[in-house]
Amino acid sequence: METIIVVGASLAGLRAVERLRQRGYAGRIVWVGEEPHLPYDRPPLSKEVLQGSWEVERTALRRDPYEDLDLDLRLARRATALDPTTRTLSLDDGTSEVYDALLVATGAAARPLPGQPDLEGIHLLRTLDDSLAVRDALEHSPRVVVVGAGFIGAEVAASARARGLEVVMVEPQPAPMLRGLGAEMGEVCGQIHRDQGVDLRCSLGVEALEGSGRVERVRLSDGSTVDADLVVVGIGARPATDWLESSGIALDDGVLCDDRCRASAPGVYAAGDVARFDNPLFGESMRIEHWSNAVDQGVHAADSMLAGEAAEPYVHVPWFWSDQYDLTIQFAGRMRANDEVRVIEGSVAERKFAALYGREGRLVGVLAFSLPRAQRKFRKQIAAGMSFGDALAAAGV
Ligand code: ADP
Repeated sequence: METIIVVGASLAGLRAVERLRQRGYAGRIVWVGEEPHLPYDRPPLSKEVLQGSWEVERTALRRDPYEDLDLDLRLARRATALDPTTRTLSLDDGTSEVYDALLVATGAAARPLPGQPDLEGIHLLRTLDDSLAVRDALEHSPRVVVVGAGFIGAEVAASARARGLEVVMVEPQPAPMLRGLGAEMGEVCGQIHRDQGVDLRCSLGVEALEGSGRVERVRLSDGSTVDADLVVVGIGARPATDWLESSGIALDDGVLCDDRCRASAPGVYAAGDVARFDNPLFGESMRIEHWSNAVDQGVHAADSMLAGEAAEPYVHVPWFWSDQYDLTIQFAGRMRANDEVRVIEGSVAERKFAALYGREGRLVGVLAFSLPRAQRKFRKQIAAGMSFGDALAAAGV
């Protein structure tokens, strides 16, 4: 292969280009990234960066010189279209490049609220620039409203509380972190936020963000209003596939891939937040927005490109962590509503415990609050397809 193009200069893209060189690929690598920055780590953006405990430089993902990778690097450049028949990628500066293989690693973009007005003081949080803007805003915003109590929202709320600010967090679901942890453990998180002084308003929607020039208040679905100096919207992300719409490549809430990270056009692969694939471990199609998947799938896609027909299937147990206050919450597996949840170690009241999630007789998840050991152990058991009964027995329950 003469030319490999990697579109997307964040974690999955970086791990892919590093892997290509590590595996001895000596051809040309064109690496395109929309942001002006070299890849940085996103998890600290809602935590250490917002709290002011990390300088920006510390978020850099790669410590070794980029020269070692010998890249044709195009930062601050957007991919605008892909033509799979001629294997051509078009860029927003009017240039185009022909590829032998191309990796889509464009990630996901933060979703704004429907009808979100263009007022100062309203922020999304996805990029480094977003995070710096929120950090600056926190300096002079005593009253913070967080919309959405998922990962980003919960971490922003915790960071704002660490700065001693007033925080109202609004969530349409009955509990925070519902998508990741389920109702029972979401409720545990909710109690933690309340104990830390967050005014958590669940089962409520946002009707409007109001103000003139600057945001001044948030109108909720029960008719009440909350005064705000700063509103951070953390209501999820959508895969960055707009530039692929005219390509004919199969898309469905992400780039549809087979288990070798191959998209529907020859020579096109996808990895990270943007990729949707069938995960045989869970018997479902998934698009995973976690750090760990960006790393593993980026590496795997690079291996697939080089291996051709000999490529191995990608099998992955999703896992994530979230730091909130003095807690580290870790989850491995795939949660669904109605999973059976059993605490196997520690105490929920003390916020130091591990729990297993079971579905149809199988172990499908493990949650650990500040007990990393349990999470690591049972992540392996999920990958091995252990039954829920055996997992409980192994845990001595
Ligand atoms: P993120 O990575 O942005 O935190 P999650 O999916 O983990 O994404 O969490 C998003 C949260 O936002 C969920 O708890 C979801 O219920 C909530 N949410 C979704 N849409 C809205 C909305 N229109 N208004 C307020 N909250 C929303």
